[in-house]
Amino acid sequence: MSITLFHKDQFEAIKKAGLLAGKALDLACRSVKAGMSTWDLDQIAEEWIRSQGAIPTFKGYSGFPASLCTSVNQEVVHGIPNKKKILKEGDIVSLDIGVTVKEKFDGTEWGYIGDTARTVTVGEVSNSVKKLLEDTDLSLYEGIKCCKAGMTIKDISIAVEKVAKKNNYGIVRMFGGHGIGPKYHSDPFIPNWADYFSFNDNTEIKPGMLLCIEPMFNLGGDDVRKLKDDWTIVTADHKMSAHFEHTILITENESIVTTKI
Ligand code: MG
Repeated sequence: MSITLFHKDQFEAIKKAGLLAGKALDLACRSVKAGMSTWDLDQIAEEWIRSQGAIPTFKGYSGFPASLCTSVNQEVVHGIPNKKKILKEGDIVSLDIGVTVKEKFDGTEWGYIGDTARTVTVGEVSNSVKKLLEDTDLSLYEGIKCCKAGMTIKDISIAVEKVAKKNNYGIVRMFGGHGIGPKYHSDPFIPNWADYFSFNDNTEIKPGMLLCIEPMFNLGGDDVRKLKDDWTIVTADHKMSAHFEHTILITENESIVTTKI
């Protein structure tokens, strides 16, 4: 396992990237309205990120063609923005964004990343969908409470899973939280289900780690499928899915949610 431990002199740049990601996500979420396309949202986010002198992390990452992931209704994560995908009243849309800030440290150029996601509603939705969004967001904060030096990744998984189980939501198992290194995704994997640790090693959380917690809960079952575009993940039973994410920097004394504005 290769986990990046950042030096304390890198913390300011990490916080800067997180704040830009938080603001970009907030702008995209506030822009959501019926009649617009998911492509429009991507353009709004990308333009703003570049205006800040930062880089949209996702664009080109493993070949992803956009700056924002836009996953509508039964789409879980990695939805590709599309001019033909028009949002309508009663939809929900999960927006996921990454922002990279490049700065030199110790003579080398580093990429510092903030990664954050939120599911928002387009107009009125049913009470069960509203509650799915609230509970998924709540589970993220339950996970964040365990995200501190001396605790373990499994503690986070237990806290997140508890909220899903209490409310009978499906938990996406194929994806989860992760560490962030200079090139984005890195170890450790942070599953939203604790059984994972029956057959994988647990990891102690240490100062200098930069971790993303990202619960994905479904109104139906756990199972998901990948669409033919090779990116979009959907629930197998076509039920709605929610996704919330923050990036957390672990320091000696506190944990900083870098993407919270
Ligand atoms: Mg992430």
